[in-house]
Amino acid sequence: MNKDNLEKIKELKDIIANSDNIVFFGGAGVSTESGIPDFRSENGINKAIEKYGNPPETILSHSYFLTNTTGFYKYYKENMIHNSAKPNDAHLAIGELEKCGKIKAVITQNIDGLHQKAGSENVLELHGSIMRNSCMNCGDSYDLDFIINSNEVPICNSCGGIVKPDVVLYQEPLDNNTMRKATEYIANSDVLIIGGTSLVVYPAAGLIDYFSGDNLILINKSETAYDGYANLVINEAIGEVFKEVIGSNETIL
Ligand code: ZN
Repeated sequence: MNKDNLEKIKELKDIIANSDNIVFFGGAGVSTESGIPDFRSENGINKAIEKYGNPPETILSHSYFLTNTTGFYKYYKENMIHNSAKPNDAHLAIGELEKCGKIKAVITQNIDGLHQKAGSENVLELHGSIMRNSCMNCGDSYDLDFIINSNEVPICNSCGGIVKPDVVLYQEPLDNNTMRKATEYIANSDVLIIGGTSLVVYPAAGLIDYFSGDNLILINKSETAYDGYANLVINEAIGEVFKEVIGSNETIL
């Protein structure tokens, strides 16, 4: 890591050490470092068109789910479920910072459940989670293994209805309650750390507007349109940054 970024991480550690009201907001980049590819990336889009005949936005839409449930699940099982993925240094550090009372909430656009696997408890999943699934007819709940082990389309054991992931598909609204909590946490926080997102996916950009605390920190491999608003911008892999934050000096905990 270059000297400039190490200096900035020092600054980040100071900010974390001096606050117990931090909110972390993360995007796809947090999970790509656990080996989960971003389906919205150029590569992800091209792969979907080539192999499944449609871009992810089409396949992962509400109308496609209803009209081509088999096609939806083929793509979904092969591309959205990464059951062997493990939390990386960013997930683990964020879990630790919640345990010691510094991070109050984790807001994520990811659906993989890795923050919970890393020990985070107060996780607001804006786009839902592959871990939760329910019957569209009777509402019975099913876990991820049920989906993985199903033959093509998962069918409810109780009533024979179609089981749908609790994931926000294109054309579907975000959950009001989750959005309300996310805006409240951001509005009341002193420090907002945003990582692994270029801030172009809805509703990320809009949520930043609710922040009125002391320190806005952006950690992303590339520049974002919001860099000018931030107190601290670190262009570095988020796992590397958090490894440095936690690993080299335990005293902030
Ligand atoms: Zn059912």
